[in-house]
Amino acid sequence: MNKHFFSALLLVASFTAKAQQNVNYFYNQDVKFDTSIPTPKNVLGFEVGEWHVSHDKLVEYMKALAKTSNRVSLEIAGYTYEHRPILLLTITNPENHTNIENIKKEHLAIKTSTDDIANKPVVVWLGHSIHGNEASGSNASLLVAYYLAAAQGEAIEKMLTNTIILLDPSYNPDGLNRFASWVNSHKSKNLDPSSLSLEHNEAWPRARTNHYWFDLNRDWLPVQHPESQARVANFYKWQPNILTDQHEMSSNSTYFFQPGIPSRNNPLTPEKAFDLTRKIARYHAKAMDAIGSQYYSEESFDDYYPGKGSTFPDLNGSVGILFEQGSARGHLMGTENGSLSFKFAIRNQVTTSLSTLEAAQELRGELLTYQNEFFAKAKELASNDVIKGYVFAGKGDLNKTNSFLQVLARHKIEVEKLTDNYKPFSKDESYIVKLNQEQYRLTKAIFDKRTSFKDSLFYDVSAWTLPLAFGMQYQEVSAKELVKIKSESIGIIKREEKIAFEASEYGYLLSWTDYMAPAALNKIQKAGLRTKLTTHAFQLNGNKYAKGTIFIPVQNQSLSKDKIVEVMKFISSTYLVPVKGINSGDADGVKLGSPSFYNLKSPKIAVVGGDGVSSYEVGEVWHLLDYRMNIPMSLIAIDQLNSVDLSKFNTIIMVSGNYSKLKVDRISEFVKTGGLIIATKSAGKWLSKNEITTVTYVNNKIDSTQQRPYELMDRYKGAQVIGGAIFETKADLSNPLFYGYAATSIPVFRNSTIMMERNKNAYANPLMYTGSPLISGYISSINIKKLANTAAVQIDKAGRGTVITFTDNPNFRAFWYGTNRMFLNAIFFGREVRIK
Ligand SMILES: [Zn+2]
Repeated sequence: MNKHFFSALLLVASFTAKAQQNVNYFYNQDVKFDTSIPTPKNVLGFEVGEWHVSHDKLVEYMKALAKTSNRVSLEIAGYTYEHRPILLLTITNPENHTNIENIKKEHLAIKTSTDDIANKPVVVWLGHSIHGNEASGSNASLLVAYYLAAAQGEAIEKMLTNTIILLDPSYNPDGLNRFASWVNSHKSKNLDPSSLSLEHNEAWPRARTNHYWFDLNRDWLPVQHPESQARVANFYKWQPNILTDQHEMSSNSTYFFQPGIPSRNNPLTPEKAFDLTRKIARYHAKAMDAIGSQYYSEESFDDYYPGKGSTFPDLNGSVGILFEQGSARGHLMGTENGSLSFKFAIRNQVTTSLSTLEAAQELRGELLTYQNEFFAKAKELASNDVIKGYVFAGKGDLNKTNSFLQVLARHKIEVEKLTDNYKPFSKDESYIVKLNQEQYRLTKAIFDKRTSFKDSLFYDVSAWTLPLAFGMQYQEVSAKELVKIKSESIGIIKREEKIAFEASEYGYLLSWTDYMAPAALNKIQKAGLRTKLTTHAFQLNGNKYAKGTIFIPVQNQSLSKDKIVEVMKFISSTYLVPVKGINSGDADGVKLGSPSFYNLKSPKIAVVGGDGVSSYEVGEVWHLLDYRMNIPMSLIAIDQLNSVDLSKFNTIIMVSGNYSKLKVDRISEFVKTGGLIIATKSAGKWLSKNEITTVTYVNNKIDSTQQRPYELMDRYKGAQVIGGAIFETKADLSNPLFYGYAATSIPVFRNSTIMMERNKNAYANPLMYTGSPLISGYISSINIKKLANTAAVQIDKAGRGTVITFTDNPNFRAFWYGTNRMFLNAIFFGREVRIK
């Protein structure tokens, strides 16, 4: 016991009695507590709700519970980008704790066995505040954890005997902390309910997201971030029967719990999951009635995209439940329904956490049986499905293939490696996922393409087909084809740690086919080495080299031969990219001294961020360059960009945003003097409007002169939204922007109605939407007609500079590996591209 902890215990004794009176507000009953367990106030120094809990204090309290209560154990499941611990508490009675590994094993066995199911404990995962600025969940978790650790009496004893509670106090520690810091530092002693106050209006980029500004409640399926990786790993270790996901919504709203809108459920989720959700909802309704709180269900929010915390569990034999509390934002908020205090918001969240546990008790047998049936049914579903599996390959891209296999491994999806060629898939780099496995439903969710829907409104994206996003070559396999494919089980794939490397006195060739090639090129350039891009394919020593291969000569560099060996060895072993040492420039096709090799410039990148710019899209660029590729860049706000010396940069990246304050002359001058601008989505519109580019946009206003039924107004408007779908484009692979791509057909993600007309210059449209471009997801019949055959990427030249305009976002949510490449190509090769 450390000194600090000892003094905490002394505090416990003196403050417990009073603190307990205050906490009873949150439980709507006089609970008798074990006085040896510290209340939240004992550790935090304030009542829950008086201040927003910072993440470190939240951790401190949970650690104190784990130390003092034999009902509670705590593990650190991982760390966030900002190195905050990701906690998971296991709460159950002390006997269960001594036998916890066995209980876990028996619980997992429910997937395949019906033995004594009804007597087994039910597993409930209580999760909080994945959106950092929806903090009532995490603050409620203090009180829920205290109650479970310290409450006395028969009811709680019984519940803890029959239940394993997994409590994750903060799904998004970095966001929660950012928010607590903001609202606490703007709080007045006399609480200000004005919605206009600084306390209630966070500064950019706000705290909904994690460190790189990703919405973690979209990452349960792609699992690209450390928070989701830790969480999803624990999910599969336990396979909970219920998982809760506590959020906040607009301040004028009351309280929502699922079920959501019935017509917008994911079709892969069994109907029984919604029946159970509805049954559980009755317990919430009763508990909320008892404290006089208002609530609703089934009228908003959907259960469609499995990247969300309430839908992902539904495809895993669990019941995911979304809760949305009207937000107090800071500590007190004036609303249409009167003043809404943070404490009140917290009390509602505590109430539904406890009603969830009550429901789990009473529905225990049904939940466990449902879980068994869910997995038992997989075989039958697979045998009724005309699709029997999916074969896929990464085409010379080891890193991308590994990342894709890693996603499947994280979801416990079994993969087999081909042992024989299956045209056009070569056995060396191809895999098959068969549908006849436990994870039938989730596998379908990952690989499925869907173009017909019950409803035309979506809360989030309507398509996410991961092999398309990763740009994998892939094919559905029928029963007839399946028998032709020879494969063997490989279990969970490990990254290959070594790749052949040979030192050279003459030069090195870096292949551009691998996803990490830009990271390698950047490292070589930053080491001060001259790099050359080949625009012609050639053969050397029997090896074929495609356009886009990077040549690094040894002669006349600023580093010695030995130092160059060190750099090349480093990039080969760190990034696992193919680098070949060569001893001659006498290639077939073109010689290595050919004028078709361009000297490449090392990018010096400014990414425009700050107020008015989409923090999501900036964050996606930041994560790609900084985190994945180790490419240095500066995040710069518009105000600064208007005044800094732009000659420090040769590349400016602009994503969706409002650029009305950006000085046109400076940007125009930057391009004319040789700068490169890469613009995505609405940033392209600003450049076009200010005549920095020649891009013209499709007029996509709908005919508003017709009379339409008032009651269908929202529905009609919603149906014209492209919330997120996948489309086919056709690339000119001879254009440097598409070096490294293996096929002309490239799936792209689109979540806006911004469409570019084709450029009059035939070389300025290197990527176009096809004539019938929808691959997966929802788009209205009006919009698909407009989108067909439009340009997806355009190139403009002005003075000595270049602008590359993307109509879409190639870096969506960190899992669009397939289109990351064209964005990175634009950074490294964009300035070399000619249009006449
Ligand atoms: Zn939320």
